[in-house]
Amino acid sequence: MDVLTPEQRRRNMAAIRNANTKPEMVVRRTLHRRGYRYVLRGRNLPGRPDLVFPGRHKVIFVHGCYWHMHECRYGCVTPRTNAAFWRAKREGNVARDRRTLQALRDLGWDVLIVWECETKDAARLEARLIDYMKAVGLPRSADVGLPRD
Ligand SMILES: [Zn+2]
Repeated sequence: MDVLTPEQRRRNMAAIRNANTKPEMVVRRTLHRRGYRYVLRGRNLPGRPDLVFPGRHKVIFVHGCYWHMHECRYGCVTPRTNAAFWRAKREGNVARDRRTLQALRDLGWDVLIVWECETKDAARLEARLIDYMKAVGLPRSADVGLPRD
């Protein structure tokens, strides 16, 4: 017999799915194949970014277009039921994303948002990720003048 109620089971399964959502796996595989190593879900950082590159002071978020209201056809969908409720929830996500982005930048981190819809074109995604990884961020007082890898 299942020790969880159906509702708990549903949440539990949703959480498991969320942890390894396909768009995030695509990003992870792409970077890993190119030799970039990362830490998953930086626990000490605002917003717990999906991928963290501590030495480079870079983080990547992989955002679902619907939940984070991307301005694309997947992000502009309006649910048929409880539209106001879901809209408020998604707008809450967007507001939180904005605060998270600012907090990370204030701490000196470069932030890249990869949208789910941008993970469908493998060549473009790879080019974008590599550009981001190679870009030198804004100099921080502690490491101005130091060579970067
Ligand atoms: Zn999108």
